Amino acid sequence: MIDLRSDTVTQPGAAMRTLIASAAVGDDVFAEDPTVNQLQELAAELSGQPEALFLPTGTQSNLVGLLAHCERGDEYICGQQAHTYKYEGGGAAVLGSIQPQPIEFEADGSLDLNRVAAAIKADDFHFARTRLLALENTHAGKVVPLEYVARARAFCDEKGLGFHLDGARACNAAVKLGVPLKQVTAPFDTVSICLSKGLGAPVGSVLCGKAELIAKARRWRKVVGGGMRQAGVLAAAGIYALEHNIERLAEDHDNALRLAKGLASIDGLRVDVDAVQTNMLYVDMDSGCLQPLRNSMLEQGIRLDSRLPMRMVTHLDISRDGIDRVVGAFKQFFSSAGR
Ligand SMILES: *Cc1c(COP(=O)(O)O)cnc(C)c1O
Repeated sequence: MIDLRSDTVTQPGAAMRTLIASAAVGDDVFAEDPTVNQLQELAAELSGQPEALFLPTGTQSNLVGLLAHCERGDEYICGQQAHTYKYEGGGAAVLGSIQPQPIEFEADGSLDLNRVAAAIKADDFHFARTRLLALENTHAGKVVPLEYVARARAFCDEKGLGFHLDGARACNAAVKLGVPLKQVTAPFDTVSICLSKGLGAPVGSVLCGKAELIAKARRWRKVVGGGMRQAGVLAAAGIYALEHNIERLAEDHDNALRLAKGLASIDGLRVDVDAVQTNMLYVDMDSGCLQPLRNSMLEQGIRLDSRLPMRMVTHLDISRDGIDRVVGAFKQFFSSAGR
């Protein structure tokens, strides 16, 4: 099966499973799981942050990150399509009484700092207290420019805002830029990184950040039910992912570009090849084609997203040959009679 819906579908391979099977464990609520501790130290080092905390999901990692920065009646500024705002069930508002203030993303995945400044509320009891700016990198597969992040850091310092990164795919950004992860993540106060996407672990995220914020996040993790016990079996997969699967993300990026170029040559598909930066591409077509295409591809072992524009995501379980198979199958579908 070639599953292009997401990079979350990856399966742990034999080497990762061996490490999982042999992991030393302890009770992580007492901070006594040696493998979780090792993962947290590794994540802190790689991200250039003082501390890190292991969590079951990226959603929980973002949530406790926001809870560490903001109190009831506070506000965070984020993108209109940001995962923290749109794809996490409104968790910050539902569970934290934190108000989101979304603004439109710019084309490059950044948030215009003039618009952010205009959204910051005055110190007045009519308003929520603006406390935090949350960015996302990569956003929709796009790498947020480092020069922008440096400006946003200075902006947050000037305005007295905290600075959070939803870095679910921050490793993809670093590999694309050809820089160590810490260059992408160190400017923030807190950074959430998913181990269970392109990095290939079955479960887990790490929240990396300043010590006092990670201490708060640790407390919130327990409150929201994320305090796990012998979690070293999961953390072992995360260690494997960070040690072996970062550099290879470049293959996924090459494959995404190869796929985009292949599909762009097909009549009936619209693909912005130039927009492809990391492991994601978006393909548009007549809506009437979508379901027949998905059915036909499924018969050939290719799984596709159900929405348009169709998001396609490459990952470590899709090889270059797999990409060529997908392009071939699409060509055949769109050249068949009546299309
Ligand atoms: C996947 C993702 C998350 C976290 O999702 P989980 O499924 O909860 O791990 C957060 N932000 C972005 C941008 C994501 O793509």
